[in-house]
Amino acid sequence: MVRNQIGVQRKLAGSQFGRVWRSLAFRGRREAPRPNYATPSFARYPDPAVIFIFWGKQTEDWYGYGQASYTFKLGVPERTAAVLEGGVPKNDLTILEREITKCRKCSRLVAYCEEVARTKRRAYRDWTYWGKPVPAFGDPEAGLVIIGLAPAAHGANRTGRMFTGDRSGDFLYEQLYRAGFANQPQSKRADDGLVLKGALISAAIRCAPPANKPLPEEIRNCLPYLERELDLIRPRAILALGGIALNTYLDLLKQKGLIRSRAPYRFAHGASFALPGDLPRLFAAYHPSQQNTQTGRLTPAMFARVLRQIRKFLEMRGGAREAIAIQKPRRFR
Ligand code: SF4
Repeated sequence: MVRNQIGVQRKLAGSQFGRVWRSLAFRGRREAPRPNYATPSFARYPDPAVIFIFWGKQTEDWYGYGQASYTFKLGVPERTAAVLEGGVPKNDLTILEREITKCRKCSRLVAYCEEVARTKRRAYRDWTYWGKPVPAFGDPEAGLVIIGLAPAAHGANRTGRMFTGDRSGDFLYEQLYRAGFANQPQSKRADDGLVLKGALISAAIRCAPPANKPLPEEIRNCLPYLERELDLIRPRAILALGGIALNTYLDLLKQKGLIRSRAPYRFAHGASFALPGDLPRLFAAYHPSQQNTQTGRLTPAMFARVLRQIRKFLEMRGGAREAIAIQKPRRFR
């Protein structure tokens, strides 16, 4: 029986199917294992049942090549429709996503993400961690861009999608769903069918930092990605989740000479600022981290209130939008 099995495997490896499988299995993987030609072919190419298990793992890995590319492979609707048909230059977005996922500018963060992906959390030991920078997720035609802080080590760094697979994401996507920005309230893994409409989620930095604390130079390294993303998306509103996200965006504006100082735009939950010129309106909210949501500092009602405010703003006609003065932060508790 063993001889028979080996014979079948040898035939498969040498056949057209074997060639196609080899080319697909190793396609585009930078760290793809090179076939070891010292190993007999039947050991290199296992039996068909194993091939299908292995195939599942490969598709999970493919999320690694930016959302645009994996949506082409897996047919995830989010990027595909927008990148192919939308007004946003598809090549620029795709190029940006790929650049981000391949970035290694911050050696400390790259090493940390890879280490977390290698060691894993016990509950996720069956996962193939993403372990790389995470690109933005959402609608390229979005009116609202949400800027978070950074991917979570066992959240987006595991799943490869912003705010996916952790408690902060559960909170955020539930609220986005209720406000009509998402098609479902859950966000468990990158192929769960979640689609954002009118919103895109980005972050101040794209690699998970140790203890959730990025260094100032790491934020500076990552800033050009946010700048290019905003130039491509051209949103009408920005929601900064937490003080670091707000200051990162303001630093970007300051660097470009669009504002003189960050001082007039102090962070407070529920604050909303009209920025000079035709810059998007800036909203601020507490980050939906467990630290905030479990202590009651941020409640679903507080966050929903901010999203309603944004929705109202996006639905206003241009003239009315411009007429709004700087609003004072409001207390919701
Ligand atoms: S944080 Fe940003 S700049 Fe630094 S390595 Fe990750 S993607 Fe690159």
